[in-house]
Amino acid sequence: MINKNTKIYIAGHCGLAGSAIKSKLEQEGFLNLVYKTHKELDLTDSNAVNIFLAKEKPEYIILAAAKVGGIVGNLKSPVEFLTENIKIQTNIIENAFKNNINELIFLGSSCIYPKNSQLPIKEEQLLSGSLETTNEAYALAKICGIKLCSYYNKQYGTNYLSVMPCNLYGKNDNYHQENAHVIPMLIRRFHEAKTQNKKEVTVWGTGLPKREFLYADDFAEAIVKLIQTENIEDEIINIGTNNEITIATLAETIKKTVGYEGNIIYDKTKPDGTFSKKLNTEKMEAIGWSATTSLEDGLKITYQDFLTNDNLRK
Ligand code: GDP
Repeated sequence: MINKNTKIYIAGHCGLAGSAIKSKLEQEGFLNLVYKTHKELDLTDSNAVNIFLAKEKPEYIILAAAKVGGIVGNLKSPVEFLTENIKIQTNIIENAFKNNINELIFLGSSCIYPKNSQLPIKEEQLLSGSLETTNEAYALAKICGIKLCSYYNKQYGTNYLSVMPCNLYGKNDNYHQENAHVIPMLIRRFHEAKTQNKKEVTVWGTGLPKREFLYADDFAEAIVKLIQTENIEDEIINIGTNNEITIATLAETIKKTVGYEGNIIYDKTKPDGTFSKKLNTEKMEAIGWSATTSLEDGLKITYQDFLTNDNLRK
């Protein structure tokens, strides 16, 4: 049973999900957390990962490290999205097993499910159809990670769990002009339009696709709940809000949060991606967690973080 002294390694502690998980564990009084920056430990180097795990001997790993990006970033660099993610996750999962680490949570994404899944998507729908093409490389890598965890469980009796969050947002997100996900990208665009008195802001696609947005701190709470829950039988668990909105509604909400007064126009030459990937979250609810932060509140905190954190605006 996990306790406040259990040594937990958070891979990817600087990213959106990993930083929220680290903060939540600290708030909850976990005293024995280990993490390394990208510079200190290259997760694409299997030997380096093995040496690190052999030395630190964590009892639990939260695998939140990944190469992530928005719809256009994914379309432009499928090679890197596939190869880097396969390397990072395989190195950690394989070396976790080699070093007798039996407990691990692997972070996936709702984009692993088939494009034409029945909605809301149940975990069982994995590999029941073709993937959405805009993020196929990333999804394929994540599916390999999920299956690798599951194969270790079956073959060697480990306790590796995969979680599938819907679209996450929050503090410490990536605001890069082309690579970012929709929320950070629109925060940046509305903010710049406001400060530069621009008449209009462009939103990609038709505005019609729907997405389910989960505040990263709520997601972190779900992860902390999972690591404290014993005897979880499932190998894959969806984590979402049960609440979908259109990209057009999202854009209006961000416009209001930022206090921009111009117009919104839609660039239909940019991809919409999948129309909906709403998750069925019954399994997570049965474990005793549901999201609590409203999109409005989460966006306010996220925008403040963007304003106060100089690094994000570079
Ligand atoms: P996805 O859930 O993997 O498609 O992730 P994204 O966050 O990249 O995109 C979500 C939706 O937002 C898609 O329908 C995009 O077309 C739409 N979108 C609208 N404007 C933007 C933008 O400026 N950046 C991104 N990344 N997506 C945008």
